Amino acid sequence: MTHPFLDLAPLGADRFAAIEDRVARLLSTEQDVVIMQGEALLPLEGAIRATAGPGTTALNVITGPYGQTFGDWLRDCGATVVDLAVPFHTAVTAEQIRQALTEHPEIDFVSLVHAEAATGNTNPVAEIGEVVRAHGALFYLDAVASIGAEPVLTDAWGVDLCVIGAQKAMGGPAGVSAVSVSERAWARMAANPKAPRRSYLSLLDWKERWIEGGRRALPHAPAQLEMLALEACVERIEAVGLDALMARHASAAAATRAGALALGGGLEPYVYEARDAAPVATTLRVPSGAVASEVVARALEADPAVPVAAGGGALAKEMIRVNHYGADATRGAVRASLTALGQALAERGLAVDVEAALRAVEGAWR
Ligand SMILES: *Cc1c(COP(=O)(O)O)cnc(C)c1O
Repeated sequence: MTHPFLDLAPLGADRFAAIEDRVARLLSTEQDVVIMQGEALLPLEGAIRATAGPGTTALNVITGPYGQTFGDWLRDCGATVVDLAVPFHTAVTAEQIRQALTEHPEIDFVSLVHAEAATGNTNPVAEIGEVVRAHGALFYLDAVASIGAEPVLTDAWGVDLCVIGAQKAMGGPAGVSAVSVSERAWARMAANPKAPRRSYLSLLDWKERWIEGGRRALPHAPAQLEMLALEACVERIEAVGLDALMARHASAAAATRAGALALGGGLEPYVYEARDAAPVATTLRVPSGAVASEVVARALEADPAVPVAAGGGALAKEMIRVNHYGADATRGAVRASLTALGQALAERGLAVDVEAALRAVEGAWR
């Protein structure tokens, strides 16, 4: 019996390299791009372990849960870590970064998350990139939740290590991911005796066994099905246009924000300023007395298809997330989410106006 996922022909080196080149174009980079054979946490961790060591002083910016994880890896590598945490309802500013770099001139590594799907904020990477470049530190960026939803200009922003996954705005597979690596990032790795070598985490292995060989022979069997899905995903983005895809996400975010405000019932945007709100997902604060995870459970009973979730961990009490990314970056998904949330809040006796919310969605959709 034939099956679309089974008995696949081997994925050759040419095709693998061509997919890397197309991902590089999405990232607006001329640097090397390595497609890693695992979920985005693989290059996120691999890039830190390769570049950070006991001699490193890292400025680790925390604007959501991922920043916390990066700090833990950095400390585990023996790096001295300066944490810069900002409340999840806002973004970090370039000025805050400048101050931290001035106070700690020894900083030679900066880790930052571009957009946070978990907390709904996005950081001004263009401005931050200028500050980091002027200081000379290596710049590591998690762009998993921004790629496809908002511009990611790796080279123009001076990003040395830019990590993406396809599972958010790109609407692609979660099982492979990519990282761009600048010349100075490769040099940092080569000089780091603790950088993973002969390891699944190793970026240097890919450099030595794949890139330096002219990308003619793959070091091991690739995650074939995921690579084919990534190729299809990039092909679709090229056909639709990256700008059109980003515009859909911007509209979904603006419409969800406007719709939630018009809905009433005490629901408020979690991120105070619209400019700090991520196009990938919109977070909302429930009125005092309500519990977000309970409101979400009710909303999902009303409509199990809506991309609505409660915040993770301690945020489950106060935060609702509307994950309007990928296939859900549509008017339909935003309308359905607000309708279901309206129903859940109305059941609690809160005054909501679903019609007004839906009108606001139409008005805000660009
Ligand atoms: C989604 C996401 C990742 C990938 O992690 P998962 O939790 O495995 O989906 C990494 N970084 C950011 C900022 C993300 O939003």
